[in-house]
Amino acid sequence: AKSAGGNRFELADPEADARAITRHGLTTALPTALDRGEFFIEYQPLVHLGDGSVRGAEALVRWLHPQHGVLGPDRFIPLAEHTGLIVPLGRWVLEQSVRQAREWRERYAQAGPLRINVNLSPCQLTHPRLVQDTVEILERAGVDPDALCLEVTESALIGADDDLLKPLRRLAEMGVDIALDDFGTGYSNLANLRRLPVSVLKLDRSFTQGMQQYPADPVDLKIVEGIVSLAHSLDLAVTVEGVETGAQAEQLRILGCDTAQGWYYARPGPPERLHDLALVDATG
Ligand code: C2E
Ligand code: CA
Ligand code: CA
Ligand code: CA
Repeated sequence: AKSAGGNRFELADPEADARAITRHGLTTALPTALDRGEFFIEYQPLVHLGDGSVRGAEALVRWLHPQHGVLGPDRFIPLAEHTGLIVPLGRWVLEQSVRQAREWRERYAQAGPLRINVNLSPCQLTHPRLVQDTVEILERAGVDPDALCLEVTESALIGADDDLLKPLRRLAEMGVDIALDDFGTGYSNLANLRRLPVSVLKLDRSFTQGMQQYPADPVDLKIVEGIVSLAHSLDLAVTVEGVETGAQAEQLRILGCDTAQGWYYARPGPPERLHDLALVDATG
């Protein structure tokens, strides 16, 4: 008889091998990729839901790997966190993004003070030089702290003690906004929000997905409505990610969300793309 078991074995193995080889290849290439200049940043606009104007952008890092082509952050950020490269890589992303923000602010002043959102990994959060590095980067670029928003995931702050929150508090006192990223995917105690030095809630894409149909699922609507009213009562702005259709944008606007981000407006792209969008808005 044909051996189904053997067959399955043969099919599964080469794939697993390929994955392991790729992972190993990435791990050995990663530590030197920063020195080789293989990382680049794409920017995705943040749009005000009330008037449709571009308010800024989120910086999203990519790796142009010489063999594998462009790799998304999900392929290498976990490795970078594991190997410790995330600290210099994150600092590089911050530096590039802040410089980009200064260029936007100088050349496109008529579009309003464009802001830059940068993701912070948990390893950066606990790094002793976080505040000092951030201050230096802002000063070197001549950028006001108000131009910067640091995004920290909800899961990184679950159960955070005062030692972890202290650097974030100092940054917030300087005027840097802190956003709670992927909000709604963790298990944070809502009452806990009051204790965190955050000024923006970034609603996870999973909420936006429930609004693909018009009218949306009434339960999804109620949940988002509740989160928005809670956030606003705590003086937090609400940003929604993953907006892919006009119907989603319209429903999220009606629910009172402040800012949106997603393919409906623009995919992440080179900085010139934001120049165009911001200018179109500014000139009507
Ligand atoms: P995130 O912070 O939740 O970023 C949003 C992700 O959603 C991005 O994926 C973006 O490309 C994607 N996205 C945006 N609009 C839409 C949409 O309308 N529909 C769908 N389906 N997706 C959309 P990306 O660029 O692959 O980044 C993945 C994650 O990698 C980010 O999730 C963030 O957590 C992390 N990441 C990116 N850049 C950095 C970085 O410089 N440092 C750190 N520590 N993490 C980063
Ligand atoms: Ca983010
Ligand atoms: Ca501020
Ligand atoms: Ca997300």
